[in-house]
Amino acid sequence: MAFTNADLVAGLKREGIISSPFVERAMLAVDRGLFIPQNPYVDSPQDIGSGQTISAPHMHAYALELLKDAVDKSGLDIRFLDVGSGSGYFCALLAAANREATVEGIELVPELVELGKKNLQKLGWERVPEIRQGSGWQSLGVERYDAIHVGAAAASLPTELVKALKVGGLLLIPLGPQHDTQFLTLVHKKTDNEYTTRRVMAVRYVPLVDQKN
Ligand code: SAH
Repeated sequence: MAFTNADLVAGLKREGIISSPFVERAMLAVDRGLFIPQNPYVDSPQDIGSGQTISAPHMHAYALELLKDAVDKSGLDIRFLDVGSGSGYFCALLAAANREATVEGIELVPELVELGKKNLQKLGWERVPEIRQGSGWQSLGVERYDAIHVGAAAASLPTELVKALKVGGLLLIPLGPQHDTQFLTLVHKKTDNEYTTRRVMAVRYVPLVDQKN
């Protein structure tokens, strides 16, 4: 039983879920207790209101590990996007994982946009990720991202998200039928119009709403 954030991270490391030092550092730098009041240090999902949940810590640890090549790097104008930012916790992890990066969240439900913003302020950081209200299914504008994480399941791959990746970028998204088992899928954009997909594991996520391709 984990009672502190450090205990939670140590447990995930012991189980082999955290294997990279950058993931461990990021998860230690962000106290999950700032993002969810109930049982923050237990490895399980929790309600965040509006019928949504914050994912279990092991899923967020896996997500960071899988996005490693796009996140744990240096360079100019590094950008990450978290679609369905909810509590704001994964946005915070992305920012802690790469202090040089610009991190944005996009969230459909206005109450959760506010919740995410409020939670991120609690970190007391000089620069925190920005969360905007909108849908990951609609055009995301001109920005291109090194890494995109999607925290809800899509029935099919949203073309706008692939478009929003930089060449060489990675997109991690649960894909498959709604309210059933989906596959966490890693998309690697090879060129402007070519990408590969790899099914990583079977998962069960809440559905992305407002899906239109
Ligand atoms: N990753 C977050 C929340 C995961 S729950 C966390 O761990 O706290 C999935 C989130 O996706 C919810 O907040 C939900 O409101 C949001 N969402 C659902 N459909 C969306 C869409 N089309 N665009 C943006 N956000 C969406």
